[in-house]
Amino acid sequence: MRASRPRGVRGTAPSEKMTTATVQCPYCGEHLDVFIDRSVARQEYIEDCQVCCRPITLRVTIDPDDDTEARVDARSEEE
Ligand SMILES: [Zn+2]
Repeated sequence: MRASRPRGVRGTAPSEKMTTATVQCPYCGEHLDVFIDRSVARQEYIEDCQVCCRPITLRVTIDPDDDTEARVDARSEEE
């Protein structure tokens, strides 16, 4: 499998700053893989559950000492 990379950018495939984390859906309890952009230390966004399609609020914190470590907090929108 080969991902296309933007022209003129050397040695920085888009995937290099992306990591995946597993979160548990607060609605249906299903475990989901989400993509995280490690270049952003703190982020919050909404991702629809792949199983029940309800919107999950994801709060992501990247460990400043080890950017391979991402903490992801998944909660329902109503909270
Ligand atoms: Zn769900």
